[in-house]
Amino acid sequence: MKILCVLYDDPTDGMPNSYALDSLPKIEKYADGMSLPTPNDIDFTPGELLGCVSGELGLRKFLEEAGHTLVVTSNKDGDNSEADKELVDADVVISQPFWPYYLTREKMQKAKNLKIAITAGIGSDHVDLQAAMDHNIDVVEVTFCNSISVSEHIVMMILSMVRDYHTQHAIAKSGGWNIADAVKRSYDVEGMHIGTVAAGRIGLAALRRMKPFEVNLHYFDRHRLSAEVEKELNLTFHETVESMVAVCDVVTINCPLHPETENLFDAQMISKMKKGAYIINTARGKICNREAIAEALESGQLSGYAGDVWFPQPAPNDHIWRTMPNHGMTPHTSGTSLSAQARYAAGTREILECFFDKKPIRSEYLIVQGGELAGTGAHSYSKGSATSGSEEASKYKK
Ligand code: NAD
Repeated sequence: MKILCVLYDDPTDGMPNSYALDSLPKIEKYADGMSLPTPNDIDFTPGELLGCVSGELGLRKFLEEAGHTLVVTSNKDGDNSEADKELVDADVVISQPFWPYYLTREKMQKAKNLKIAITAGIGSDHVDLQAAMDHNIDVVEVTFCNSISVSEHIVMMILSMVRDYHTQHAIAKSGGWNIADAVKRSYDVEGMHIGTVAAGRIGLAALRRMKPFEVNLHYFDRHRLSAEVEKELNLTFHETVESMVAVCDVVTINCPLHPETENLFDAQMISKMKKGAYIINTARGKICNREAIAEALESGQLSGYAGDVWFPQPAPNDHIWRTMPNHGMTPHTSGTSLSAQARYAAGTREILECFFDKKPIRSEYLIVQGGELAGTGAHSYSKGSATSGSEEASKYKK
């Protein structure tokens, strides 16, 4: 079979010769008891760069020894991309949300052999899920592999935005010492109201991690948490997003991108937020309206916006979120720490082993199967597509 793997570019100065840590801490299982990936074997060293082109997700030896062909490229956008050329006769496509290969209906129509699209990570909105259902292409992802990684990034971003770390770090780096400049936008999170849109694996982990800061916790989700968890974290459940955002100082967004959540935070929703609130969005860029966020930061309706997700990706060089005031954006990195890469590379291998051996893939990994939403897809997504406009990714110039 032919496997097309679309990964992000190598470091600009080549693959590292050494790493900051000699090994990764051992994680026994995920918070809900689910086991970490269970491939028969791995051919990579956990803690090394695996998500870039030369890292190859550690898959080449395994695939070639089994007689398959592996093609790896980062060239994915614009007319005649390498990925588009290779997709035409590929059986399997692997892509990561950090450097998403937008698998549109048009591309699927040309990919006559394509059977499965694997997301090496979490969040399969870069695949037109409706078209995948219509073409009987299965879509799977490595559920839980980086949920904790992202929740850590959320805590970092809440603290850094509310305390205004970025301003203070810039002053220190530039040789300055004006304390008043450094603290004129700096607050404590203690006592604040913090709410999450969605309390799935990431949202719940973010709530748990914020609890020791002695804040008031809120959530909105289409699936209510158990009474035990609500009690343990002293959570306030909201029936609507509007009711939650009206009382929160910080809103963190943790739902998948699908037709129900696309453009959820538009000018109208933002106008219903508490004045001066912060948004932390590590879910997907398209859940927030690009211009409405920038305008709310300009007017002061929002005090800050941080996250690591953009639309499209890579973000065009002139994307307004790169230059708007009081932002704390990173490129899409939260779910691709070296720790996370080891888990999703192993999870991708587990999925491929099941696929080749015609064994069932864990239901938690399923998004689309047999022409329908399945597993986590049925729980967390809705039918339809959220890929429109992705061609703008070709505007990014290195
Ligand atoms: P999950 O499936 O455990 O949780 C998703 C939650 O969203 C579920 O509880 C579901 O009920 C809820 N939800 C779905 N649609 C909703 C709606 N319309 N309104 C309210 N709630 C809704 O997934 P997770 O592991 O928590 O990941 C969530 C999302 O975070 C992913 O789909 C992905 O988009 C994003 N993510 C980002 C990164 C990153 O690197 N930045 C990494 C992993 C995941």
